[in-house]
Amino acid sequence: MNESGLLIVLSGPSGAGKGTVVKALLEQQEGLRLSVSATTRTPRPGELHGQHYFFLPKEEFVAKIEQGKMLEYAQYCGNYYGTPAEPIHQWRADGLDVLLEIEIQGGGQIKQKCPDCVGIFLLPPSLAELENRLRARGTEPEDVIAKRMATARDELSGVSGYDYAVVNDSIGQTVRRIQTIIAAEKLRFSRVKQTSDLWKGSCPSC
Ligand code: 5GP
Repeated sequence: MNESGLLIVLSGPSGAGKGTVVKALLEQQEGLRLSVSATTRTPRPGELHGQHYFFLPKEEFVAKIEQGKMLEYAQYCGNYYGTPAEPIHQWRADGLDVLLEIEIQGGGQIKQKCPDCVGIFLLPPSLAELENRLRARGTEPEDVIAKRMATARDELSGVSGYDYAVVNDSIGQTVRRIQTIIAAEKLRFSRVKQTSDLWKGSCPSC
């Protein structure tokens, strides 16, 4: 399948502000679709099946892995998370850009399977600020916050597998920076030449 839309992977520790950034980005960036992940974790208050996640029992999630229906999957803090493959291929084939908001194990799998993806790592301004944000959310008990902080420290070292690092100090700036990345990636020669006949036959090395 000829996939002309960008595949953008956004990762970063829990509390870096991915959710807020994604929401603002979807409102401001035309032609961008967000992949709805599947997970075995229980819904938080206000989360809806099919909108925030597909909340699946473990057996169903594992069956989908075995059927090859997940583009990537990972276990994170005791639960499975994964990206349903089918909508991604369709959107990209339709020329739409697709955003995956996933953790770093999944990000690594996507980079291997789709080397032309664009990896963006969202960083909190500091570890102290990260902990403040996790607490302010008020949805997680202390032991889960401690587990997520430990995971976050590990995750920060995963930044080296990504193409870009963006510090999320203000939502407006962060969204503009990501839009700049998207605009520049669309101008990469390797992508431009796929959609143009300008070099057909005239440039063997292109
Ligand atoms: P949360 O439980 O806070 O919604 O998500 C926990 C972590 O799982 C976050 O870092 C989020 O980016 C990641 N995540 C969400 N969906 C997926 C997915 O489909 N695949 C992978 N690998 N990680 C995901």
